[in-house]
Amino acid sequence: MSKKINKVAVIGAGVMGSGIAALLAGTGIHVVLLDIDDTFSKAGYDRIKDPRTGMLYEKSQIDYITAGNITDDLEKLRECDWVLEAASENLSIKREIMKKIYPYCKADAVISTNTSGVSINAIAEGMDADFKRRFMGTHFFNPPRYMALFEMIPTNETKPELVKFMADFAENELGKSVVPAKDTPNFVANRIGVYAMLNSMQIMEKYGFNIPTVDLLCGPVMGRAKSASFRTVDIVGLDILNNVAENVLQNTTNPAEQKLYAVPWFVKDRIENGALGDKTKVGFYKKAVCDGKKVTLAFNLETKEYEALESEKFTSVKEALKSENKYAAMVYGENPENKFTWENLKNILLYAASLIPEIADDYHDIDSALKAGFNWEAGPFEIWDKIDVEKSIDKMRAEGDVIPEWVEDRLKKGQTKFYENCAVKDIYYGLQTEKQRIVCENEGATLHDIGDEVLCLEFHTKGNSLGIPTMDMMLRASEELTTGKWKGLVVGNTGKTFCAGADLNMIGSLAKDKEWDKIEEIVNMLQSANMALKYAARPVVSAPFGSAVGGGAEVAMHTIALPYAETYMGLVESRVGLVPAGGGCTELLVKACNRSSEKGKIALFPIVKKVWKQIANSVVSSSAADAIAKGYLSENTHVILKKDALIQQAKKLVLEQEEWRYHPAPLAQIPVLGDFARAAIFNDIEAMRDGNFISEYDAVIGKKVARILTGGDVPCGTLVKEQHILDLEKEAFLSLCGEERTQVRIEAMLTTGKPLHN
Ligand code: NAD
Repeated sequence: MSKKINKVAVIGAGVMGSGIAALLAGTGIHVVLLDIDDTFSKAGYDRIKDPRTGMLYEKSQIDYITAGNITDDLEKLRECDWVLEAASENLSIKREIMKKIYPYCKADAVISTNTSGVSINAIAEGMDADFKRRFMGTHFFNPPRYMALFEMIPTNETKPELVKFMADFAENELGKSVVPAKDTPNFVANRIGVYAMLNSMQIMEKYGFNIPTVDLLCGPVMGRAKSASFRTVDIVGLDILNNVAENVLQNTTNPAEQKLYAVPWFVKDRIENGALGDKTKVGFYKKAVCDGKKVTLAFNLETKEYEALESEKFTSVKEALKSENKYAAMVYGENPENKFTWENLKNILLYAASLIPEIADDYHDIDSALKAGFNWEAGPFEIWDKIDVEKSIDKMRAEGDVIPEWVEDRLKKGQTKFYENCAVKDIYYGLQTEKQRIVCENEGATLHDIGDEVLCLEFHTKGNSLGIPTMDMMLRASEELTTGKWKGLVVGNTGKTFCAGADLNMIGSLAKDKEWDKIEEIVNMLQSANMALKYAARPVVSAPFGSAVGGGAEVAMHTIALPYAETYMGLVESRVGLVPAGGGCTELLVKACNRSSEKGKIALFPIVKKVWKQIANSVVSSSAADAIAKGYLSENTHVILKKDALIQQAKKLVLEQEEWRYHPAPLAQIPVLGDFARAAIFNDIEAMRDGNFISEYDAVIGKKVARILTGGDVPCGTLVKEQHILDLEKEAFLSLCGEERTQVRIEAMLTTGKPLHN
């Protein structure tokens, strides 16, 4: 049998050890979590278990983890296929641990360290040849659940087949983006990502910019996180930034790098004053209360005080964010902000290029590392293409910069782009395939032929919300499936989020204009589209990810869902004073009844109460596993950990379904409780309202949901068709649209993005 990882020992139950243990448990791997003593490992275990930390995909996964200590529980290592050290960042501690654990490791176990800066070869020094052949660096980023990067650093002796095995495991079972790295200071992502932040700090005084202004210029406008430079360092810790820089300064063999990695005076000043960032509640920023209001103050480099500083308001930034190429819009210009951005980006590009082949043989790996480890929208070499390689190099030369030889060589060969042929991954996984054919499209959605007789319905509106054109295309897609030309359909996209629900703008303005017929038409359309997908002639697989709420959840619920692990699903209509009316109430009830009937006799009242609670409270899952636990998705749903592979995997599932002679399910029949049991739910709602747990209007909406789920005015135990409950959904939706308090909730959501509990 081929090698498999079933059980892992994680040594060190701190921030990373506990995060890695939780991630592994989420994929069904058993974990032994060991720390110095039981107090430490219990602290890590409790952190994982605490739902507020969001470390687990789903709470029951804690059962995969056992905690222990590194003195009494070493025997447990004998069962582990992988032993990962994530203890304190200290060479002698790591060496001690290796000596202690090695005699207990299985003969073929992989042994690794999660160090972010200590030399892998140094940790392995003094260990025997067998150890060195099985040892490597496996560098997760924080938090391990969310950060995709997994740097792999072999020792000089690590067996290549073991590195390949771990790369496959990390990529395919943990869904990580694997980047091969060398045993150089801080490996790949941190070496460049930290420099990018450090350099923005080094040059800011020259331009007279304050801290919030630098964060504005180094944030989303340059494709980086909103926390940009200073806020990111506050989160990570100023001391950590200093340690990472020191690690380069002490280990680099390049004298020019000593200057590049110099830590500015104000970083040292803050560290000396104990301002280490969020962990000390003060760093470059500090929260305070001013005139009874919470405010964020920033460190003023001139006065050395925390003040209510604001970033400058640059129209160039606003314009760049709207333009087709924000990078070029920002770096070429005569304003100080353009010059600052150019200088920072130029330094990053030249530094990244100068590190090939020292830290990586291939520039694609550097791009992957920055995107997966620092959440950059584009890697340095992709950005270089965007700002026009030749034009930027002319400017660099004019400013006296030395261009790395390999880049010059490319130019001499006429290679003026780093990505001449579009990225391989896009061709394979995305929708922008060369072979791709558009079957039909409108402004809301496109129906693609993605090969092998499989269609893909891609939503492409703002937030991928469902408007009339999108619903029209859903109906068109299900019609296509009756032509016999196709094996099935994928509903998926490569946007920022699967689908944020029905177009609220449209519903809000129709409600204001009292266009009841039009609203009814839209509800009919969404219900028909979802039912058409559910009972389509050929299999329909949806590939939800990110937000799949309201109508988005309804689409996923009515199809065979193949969700990405980070899928946040829920029927959130009550937040805007409405009820799910695209089949959401009906399908959640059908799924809950199916689940119970599989387990024996249906106890309908608790089922309805649970479904009611979820809809009335707009409960959103914290992951795909949680969406399964909450009943939005069927129990046999598979979860995909690699987002890039979603469409491809969904297509594979369509083909598998076809191979297994897919037949649509028979029409559902639902037992309902009727008016008698509804009275009991109404009593509960009124008690909650009287106890001020919910508002008066929450009670109105809650009663509407209860009426739908109990099947309206029918006797208890009646078996009804789905259409019966769909009609009740529609009736409730229309009546709520006519309520002023619903219209106010919709307006509030559209203007503030937050729910209003009127
Ligand atoms: P941490 O300080 O939160 O946790 C370290 C844990 O190791 C502590 O619980 C400590 O009790 C335990 N420990 C110390 N000596 C031990 C021993 N002899 N045996 C068993 N346990 C021992 O540190 P962390 O942030 O989790 O970092 C762990 C490792 O991961 C470090 O090498 C760090 O560089 C690396 N790393 C950290 C981050 C991050 O953002 N925190 C990111 C990537 C990598």
